[in-house]
Order: sequence, then structure tokens, then C-alpha cells
Amino acid sequence: GSIEEEPTPLQKRLDELGKYIAIGCLIICAVVAVVGILHGENAINMLITGVSLAVAAVPEGLPAIVTIALALAVKRMVKRRALIRRLHAVETLGCASVICSDKTGTLTQNRMTVRQIVLPGHDYFLEGDGYDLNGELTENGHPAVAGKGLRMLLDCAVLCNNSHPAEKKKETHAGDRTELALLVAAAKAGLKTEQVLSHYSKVDEDPFDSIKKYMTVTAKTLNGKTLLFMKGAPDILLGRCAKIMRDQDEVFLNRQRRAEVMEQNEAMAGKALRVIGFAVKELSGTRAGKNEQDFTFLGLAGMIDPPRPEAKAAVAVCRQAGIKPVMITGDHVVTARAIAKDLGILGEGDEAVTGAELARMSEQDLDAHVANISVYARVSPEDKIRIVKAWQAQGEIVSMTGDGVNDAPALKAADIGCAMGITGTDVAKGAADMTLTDDNFATIVTAVKEGRGIFDNITKAVQFLLSCNLGEILTVFIAMILWQETPLMPIQLLWVNLVTDSLPALALGVEPVEHDVMSRKPRAKNESMFSGGRGFLIGAQGVMIGLLTLAAYY
Ligand code: ADP
Ligand code: MG
Repeated sequence: GSIEEEPTPLQKRLDELGKYIAIGCLIICAVVAVVGILHGENAINMLITGVSLAVAAVPEGLPAIVTIALALAVKRMVKRRALIRRLHAVETLGCASVICSDKTGTLTQNRMTVRQIVLPGHDYFLEGDGYDLNGELTENGHPAVAGKGLRMLLDCAVLCNNSHPAEKKKETHAGDRTELALLVAAAKAGLKTEQVLSHYSKVDEDPFDSIKKYMTVTAKTLNGKTLLFMKGAPDILLGRCAKIMRDQDEVFLNRQRRAEVMEQNEAMAGKALRVIGFAVKELSGTRAGKNEQDFTFLGLAGMIDPPRPEAKAAVAVCRQAGIKPVMITGDHVVTARAIAKDLGILGEGDEAVTGAELARMSEQDLDAHVANISVYARVSPEDKIRIVKAWQAQGEIVSMTGDGVNDAPALKAADIGCAMGITGTDVAKGAADMTLTDDNFATIVTAVKEGRGIFDNITKAVQFLLSCNLGEILTVFIAMILWQETPLMPIQLLWVNLVTDSLPALALGVEPVEHDVMSRKPRAKNESMFSGGRGFLIGAQGVMIGLLTLAAYY
């Protein structure tokens, strides 16, 4: 509620244009009045001339043209899978200079497959791709025999889970893809979901969220024990563990064993795997309190989430178009770095920053560094708003993606908030300016291209309308001075402005996007409508139209 929305750059430019026109109008009217009175004109005549000049100066068709051009662009963008909620956002997209994007699902496919499961003393591999169950658990190239430790880990993975794989061809998979991948992995290891659920009864659950980065499930076993299972980001889990499961036994998690687990975690992350840790502890029946400490660490599972094939090309287009792509993820910094390198987001001299490092930075530090940071890892949704604000303080136009409820403030604060159409919550969609119906990074880049094209077209229409208006003013003004009469009555000027000017201007407003829009640098936020020689062209064309009309009239 405390986040304010600014008018878009186009709205600001058009307001400014309106101001210029109004001031210009008043000056011309004053000059004409003085000239008229010096010539001894009567007041009625002067009033008609004044009205004619005012009508001549105002581009009456402009609001309609801007609205129609934007509306048609919105229609085109829906076909490209970008749903625009605020009409003016189309044009803001055109000046986007920074695109901050979530990693999981937007830059990657969100098609997770567990590749590796690591337990103390064991290193298992899983074959197969996607969510199909063909694939086997192997250890050192041989089919694996599941011991107690692995069984416990898989039980944890299946219990801390709310996903449902599709059973028939026509059904779709339901639930979090990270959890789905774990169910599939358990099945490949020969452990069916029903089998696990028949050994336990689930009593309670504290679901996963991106801030605490773990979830817990309380379950009762058949022989009356109550176990608390925990699954989540390994570094956070380890902090809550006192023991570790080695084959059959629980042993003390000393410093060396802790370091060993962290090493395995980083080795997997370095292969661009997203790593999940598992832990368990027994709750003594009398103490109902769920103190989330003193767990026994079970092991790690690493899953691959391949980058979207079109994302790499889209990142390259961004770079060419002078737009900075930034990746934001809750994953481990090593995983994030590996994927960002692959996609071309993390280039020479770019930095990757973790949520903990970000929390230590003051606003000034962040403002000074933000331009070099292209990867944020292990951050929570709340951090996004700081990133948006820091970029905006540099005068950049920022686009930010998000799907969760916690993302809403950042989506609102960003110049262009993009919500995810598939995984997004209603709150995120409500706060965003644009919804990506395919959750795809490449769609944002396509939308930016469309936005740049629209601004081009609107400027072309403005240039045409203003040069015509200038021609009209000169005609009326000079005729008034030379012959004390107006060649065009107000109603005729209105006809010219609304019909013979507006229709061609509308045609300019809906021109196809120029081919080179994505090889230009982003337009500066405060670039005037008259920059780049456009002011001169408007003047020259207006003078030509005015002089030709006067010649014809003479
Ligand atoms: P992102 O959506 O940017 O990938 P998340 O905040 O969802 O980031 O995930 C952060 C970390 O939390 C992951 O690296 C993983 O270790 C862990 N995690 C992700 N999803 C789950 C889940 N459903 N259950 C338990 N842990 C998870
Ligand atoms: Mg997530």
C-alpha cells in the first residue's frame, strides 16, 4: 500500500508536450491580438481568429491515436504470450534498461530431474529424463541396493511432498516440480509413494516457503514413534542438525563431517544441480513442542533443471539492445553461477551476490555496486524490492518478475512488474503490469521489442500531427498579418485535424516494428519528443506546409 506508482515516461512526455502547446498557443494568440488591434480590427473578428489558432495548434486526434496504437499493440502481445494489464505499460517496456528475472521456471524449464543422491559413504546416480519413471538408481555403475540411510532419505522425500505425478497420458502433473522430481526419484529407486504412506500417518505439516527455505512434516510410524521430517536448502538444514546418519547408525556431526557435507553440496551445485537436503528427528511423546533443532542429517539430492533453449538467445538480444539481464534465485550461489554462466548472464567482471551479503550491504553500498551485480542467489522475495529501488536510483527503468505473494511489493515498485501466468499467485498477477502466460524470459524480451516499436510509431504520429498543426498556425497567422483575414475557419481546421490529419497519423501509429529496434540502446527516460533532429524536422515540414497553403490561397 505504501508503494506509489509513477506516471509512465510516455505520459510524462505527452504532458510536457501539452504544456508546450498551451504556452505556444497563448503567445501566438497574444501576438495576433496586438497586431489585429494595431490594424484596428474589431473584437469579433479577433475572437474568431483566436479560436482558429487554438484549434489549429491542438493535435485533437493525438489521444485517440495513442490509445488505438497501444490497444492494438496489447492485442498483438497477447498472441506472443504477454498479457498487459495497464495500457501504458506497453510503452514503458520500450525503455526498459534492466530486466530482473527469476531463475527457476523463467530462465530454466522448471523440469527437474534428480541426478544424484549423496549420503555419507555413498554416491548414487539416477538415469532418465523429465518425469518418466524409466531409469535406475546406480552406485559405481551397478544397480544400487538401498540401505537404511537411503530408505530413510527417500521416506523423508516422499512424506515432505505435496505433488502428484500424472498417472494417465491426458492428465497433467500437479504440484511443485522440485517435489515431483523427488517422487520420481523414489520410484526409480523402487519405492512407491503408497508404500511409504502405508508405513506412516502424516500428522502435521509446515509447508515450504522461500523465506525459511525448508519444510517439516510430522508423521507417526506403525510402531507408535513420532518423527519430524525436514527437507530444504542444505546449508540451512545443517545448522539445525547435531547428528548424521552413517549407514545404520547415527553419529555425531563433528566439524569435519559438516565440512564434508558442505563440500558435497558445492560439488553438486557446481554442476548446476539444485540441491535439497533431508533430515529427521524423533519427537518424544511427552514433549509436544516442535523444537526445530537437533536433527539427524540424512543426505543430499541434486536435481538438474535445464535452461530454456530460447533463454540464451533472449539474453544475447538483451545485451545487443543495451539491456542488463539480472538473475534472481533462492538457489545456492554456486548453482546460480553455473547456470548464469551458461546463459550468458554472468559475464566478465560481473558479480554474484548472496542474500546474506546483500543483507550486510547498506543502501549506499548497494547503490554503488548494483550495476556490477548480475546474479543474486539465496535471496528471499523481500530482497527484490531493494534491488528494484537500487536500480531505479541509478535512473534505470526496471522490469522485475515474480510469482509469490511476497513478490507483490517488488512487482508494484518495478517500472514493469511481470507476473507468472502458470505458477503465479493471484496477488502477484494483481500487482503486476504484465502477465507472462508462458512464464518465459524470452517473452519479456519480445514484449520490450514491441514496446520500442510502439514508442517509435507514436513519435512518428506526433511528428506528423505537429508539423501539420504548425503549417495551419502559420497559414492563419501570416494571412492575418498580410491580409487581415483567415483562409480557414475553425470548423474547417477541426475537420483537417480530426479527419485528414488523424487517419494518416493513425496509419503511422500502427506501422510494423522496425527491424533494428533491438540493436539500439534503450531510450533515455527523459528523452524529449523533439530530440534527435525531430524538432527541426517538425519546424521545416510545418513551414513548408504553411507556405504552400498560403501560396495556393494567394
Ligand atoms: P527459486 O524458486 O528461486 O529456485 P526457492 O526459494 O524456491 O528458489 O528455493 C530455494 C532453495 O530451497 C532451493 O535451492 C532448495 O534447496 C530449497 N527448496 C526449493 N523448493 C523446495 C521444496 N519444495 N521443499 C524443500 N526445499 C525446497
Ligand atoms: Mg521456488
